[in-house]
Amino acid sequence: HAKDAGGGHILRFSPEMFSSLAERAALEEDLRGGLLRGEIRPYYQPIVALPSGEVMRFEALVRWHHPQRGMLGPGRFLSIAEDVGLDDDLLYAMARQSCRDGRDWPERIGLSLNMSPRQICNPCVVAQVMRIVFASGLAPERLTIEITEDAVIHNVAAAQAAVATLRQAGVGIALDDFGTGYASLSRICTLPLDMIKIDRTLVQSLDDDAGRKLVKVVMDLGQSLSMPVTAEGIETARQARDLTALGCTFGQGYLFGRPASARDTAELLASSEAVSIDC
Ligand code: C2E
Ligand code: MG
Ligand code: MG
Ligand code: MG
Repeated sequence: HAKDAGGGHILRFSPEMFSSLAERAALEEDLRGGLLRGEIRPYYQPIVALPSGEVMRFEALVRWHHPQRGMLGPGRFLSIAEDVGLDDDLLYAMARQSCRDGRDWPERIGLSLNMSPRQICNPCVVAQVMRIVFASGLAPERLTIEITEDAVIHNVAAAQAAVATLRQAGVGIALDDFGTGYASLSRICTLPLDMIKIDRTLVQSLDDDAGRKLVKVVMDLGQSLSMPVTAEGIETARQARDLTALGCTFGQGYLFGRPASARDTAELLASSEAVSIDC
């Protein structure tokens, strides 16, 4: 035992730790090839108007169809991609595919794409994304880039420059996962944003009094800044009702639809004139 050896710290290497490290190493190995083979694909989750349920746009969420491990979500490989320097290639693959898919949707349907704080603060990455958008034929006005609060905190000047570039091209900006970070109000007000997205942890807190008040404050903030608020992680009709009553404009969550493949998304859109999901 490490303890018997006299050290102050007990370090046990559990089988679970080993298997997760082994998995990480294996995924690291596979990622480059996976990107080249087209195993990394966007899935699309609808964002609907409240309370009508009309589908307004889709958020592209990355998925890895791993030949041995099945479908993996971003929690399993996004940080690995960053560590091995493949996160930008992953972003470009997502941008290419989602703009191509989005171009074939009805024109009124928008597309949202996630960028990491590091990416949004890198002008070369932003420029490359814009080149991909222009080449795809998707009208930039249909695209919204989602950025988290962290991006704003760490490098305000760079984030501001990127946002200016994107907006000049007609692209919208959404502040993602609002309510989970530490963005100060003054900094948020310095960025011209088009939308605030409140995190699902906030939506889950609607049941208690304090949580409800917090959600209300965010709704009022959005209103006073003339920014529509989207709530993510809506799972129950009651949450949708409560959020609507508090002034929330858009909703996203399993109640309306799980992330789905490009083909299923195109089928959903083709199934009727204006798609609307009951809530
Ligand atoms: P996010 O942008 O806040 O995306 C919402 C996440 O919540 C997605 O998880 C979605 O599947 C999940 N979700 C949606 N509705 C519900 C619900 O009703 N209940 C529950 N429990 N979960 C719900 P996902 O796809 O695992 O993505 C996790 C995060 O990974 C995303 O959070 C986003 O920050 C990041 N991400 C995803 N794709 C990309 C990407 O292409 N690039 C970058 N940089 N980040 C990405
Ligand atoms: Mg997002
Ligand atoms: Mg979130
Ligand atoms: Mg989000």
